[in-house]
Amino acid sequence: MREIDTSVRDVTVWVKTKRDLPVKTCPVCQRPFVWRKKWARCWEEVRYCSEKCRRHRGSAT
Ligand SMILES: [Zn+2]
Repeated sequence: MREIDTSVRDVTVWVKTKRDLPVKTCPVCQRPFVWRKKWARCWEEVRYCSEKCRRHRGSAT
């Protein structure tokens, strides 16, 4: 019961967060990604959804 309760709460937080935060589209994988706390200071400069996509840019295309 406790585990279920915790997961439900997490989902609620995620949905609420997803609504309020800005979204960008990753030019590598073409998928939208949502603002994250770690990008709070550099969101303007963030272009890729992950470190993996950022590296991928150099090798492919
Ligand atoms: Zn990506």
